[in-house]
Amino acid sequence: MRTRFAPSPTGPLHLGHAYSAIVAHDMARAMGGEFLLRIEDIDQTRARPEWERLIFDDLTWLGLSWDGPVMRQSERMQAYRSALDRLWSADLLYPCTCTRRDIAEALGAPQEGTPPGPDGPVYPGTCRDVHCGGMPCSMRPRPADQHLRLDIGAAAGHLGHRIDRSGGRTFGLPFLETGPAHQGEVFTSREDYLTRIGDVVLARRDMGTSYHLSVVVDDAALGITHVTRGEDLFDATPIHVLLQRLLDLPTPVYHHHRLVRDEQGKRLAKRDDARAIRTYRDDGATPADIRRMVGLA
Ligand code: GLU
Repeated sequence: MRTRFAPSPTGPLHLGHAYSAIVAHDMARAMGGEFLLRIEDIDQTRARPEWERLIFDDLTWLGLSWDGPVMRQSERMQAYRSALDRLWSADLLYPCTCTRRDIAEALGAPQEGTPPGPDGPVYPGTCRDVHCGGMPCSMRPRPADQHLRLDIGAAAGHLGHRIDRSGGRTFGLPFLETGPAHQGEVFTSREDYLTRIGDVVLARRDMGTSYHLSVVVDDAALGITHVTRGEDLFDATPIHVLLQRLLDLPTPVYHHHRLVRDEQGKRLAKRDDARAIRTYRDDGATPADIRRMVGLA
């Protein structure tokens, strides 16, 4: 068993991060497994070395030790490029020049009762058919300076034979969830992929990768068997499972834990500096106090 904590060094760790790190760490120790640390710093405009140092310092203070070397995503660009090349060669990606505004205009007024997908509004597909001039995109070199979207319809077709049919019902791609809110096998149907997720961006113009692509490539590279993370990422998981299938990577078990909220029930945001672990430390709190505050004592 191997799990990880994967913070972005874009601000101080707060109680929500501490909870996430403790849950993953304690689960690994209880199962005789390993707890790894990965620094998710693909957004180089927001990541800072001083935040990274504070992450190491806060985790150590909390009494959490991690196994093996720390993985840093900014050093993994070659692995992301290889994964994108593979998807590009299979004609599963296309370049997109739409701005947020273009997308909003193409979608018109938000449809009532249709919640946005894990990455916001479901992309209307404007660039899908026009960009490679009707030719397979793979006949051209992959552009490095444009958004690249996953053609989710083509991806579902590519996996067609592996989207199981059982008793006349079509099931989608499954993953095993052990978190408190959705225990058991979770299936996402082809229809859900098309209508609720859509053509997500896998490489951002300014980064050359994306959260979804990097997390999938890196969890596999680290041999993660159990992904422990916040419930806010539950809806992104079908995207990760699909990418694992497309890239022939194993699907780990997922454990989406509850989120730490303030007295008003509002989720603690990263820039909620008043609740930084550092601030509690400066005020004389102990690691045991932090465990109590997040409901783990
Ligand atoms: N880096 C992400 C965050 O800080 C977590 C990613 C994950 O655990 O998959 O929210």
